[in-house]
Amino acid sequence: MIGAHSSSASPQHGLTDRLARWAKGLSGRTDEPEEVEITARARPGAASSREINRRRQLYADIGDFLFAHDLDLTPTNFSVALDYLTGANIGVEKAIRAVMMERGKITNGWIEALAAEQRADEVTPESLATMLDKVEENLGQFTGLMHESRKSAKDYGAALQEQAKDLASGTDGEPVLARLVGLTRSMVEKTRAVESQLRENQKQTQALRSSLESARRAAEQDHLTGLPNRRAFEGRLRDEVALALSTREPLSIAFCDIDHFKTINDTHGHDTGDRVLKFVAGLLAKVSDDRCHVARHGGEEFVMLFRGKTAAETCEAVDDVREDLAGRSLVNRTNGERMDRVSFSAGVANVLAYDDPRAALKAADRALYLAKEHGRNRVYLAAGPE
Ligand code: GH3
Ligand code: MG
Ligand code: MG
Repeated sequence: MIGAHSSSASPQHGLTDRLARWAKGLSGRTDEPEEVEITARARPGAASSREINRRRQLYADIGDFLFAHDLDLTPTNFSVALDYLTGANIGVEKAIRAVMMERGKITNGWIEALAAEQRADEVTPESLATMLDKVEENLGQFTGLMHESRKSAKDYGAALQEQAKDLASGTDGEPVLARLVGLTRSMVEKTRAVESQLRENQKQTQALRSSLESARRAAEQDHLTGLPNRRAFEGRLRDEVALALSTREPLSIAFCDIDHFKTINDTHGHDTGDRVLKFVAGLLAKVSDDRCHVARHGGEEFVMLFRGKTAAETCEAVDDVREDLAGRSLVNRTNGERMDRVSFSAGVANVLAYDDPRAALKAADRALYLAKEHGRNRVYLAAGPE
């Protein structure tokens, strides 16, 4: 039965999508009468009858495969059969061949395990970040090694040159020694060549390092507003907690959410909504410096982290921005219409009062909820942990 296995019903792996696309290519063409074949071929994008037959055959093969192994009709089983029969996934093909050689038969459970393994190989943002860290670490080690070997190559070259000088001076006319001198000289040349190759490698390593750095920056930036994104903020929060604890400074967090933003979108359109988001982001960013970090947490929500300010002082600072925004009269650039007042509400919490910074973020979110409940366009301070 479809959906009998919980993971098979999920869209992970883009399975459902792939199957839908594949099935789409199949449907609507299979029952096309042969007579219209010429017209069909003339139409751009239409499948030839050979192509239709190929698909029909594949469809039958998938059915045969599932039937032969007594497999349920689940998207996962279907996709694995498709991968195996088309050779689209070498890993799947190899695994199936191996199990068929060994046991001759495949089971539902085995396919589930195989699909889970495949999913584990997928690149998630987290695994990508780990990979980047690893590459960076390796590059660091590699650079160190190159530096060392460059140095020893240089030392070696210098020593050889020294020896060549001695040999040349005291052994006039001596053929063996002359050969030795020649040999030594060629070694010096070789050492030089290696040295320049290493220098080139080092240059490339540095270029790679800087492109990794820009990839990392891009992964941590919100495209629309240019502010750091939630992922970047989480890292910043951890760092700032450690810093505030070591300098014994207060640390506060503010959670800001634009009021009735859905109405802004509905009234003025999504593009204007985007411009409002950018505008609010810009106002919040004006406050930011090395002790105040602003990020887009998602949708129309922003987070701010203040080191060196108590929660009450943070409330005041955020309230100044709130007042500034609410006092402005924004105009919709697309039609020149004046917009209703744009405002935000915020909740503030003292980060260090909580065992876990995530608990502080939750407390700020609760305070924000109360600010919304009590009429919006206001900043509330969290009561603190029980
Ligand atoms: P509240 O005052 O209670 O916060 O109401 P709200 O309408 O602001 O909140 P709600 O969560 O109902 O709606 C948020 C809307 O923000 C819904 C979503 O479509 C919109 N939104 C999220 N991200 C973006 C974006 O990047 N651009 C635009 N234009 N809209 C966005
Ligand atoms: Mg919201
Ligand atoms: Mg909102």
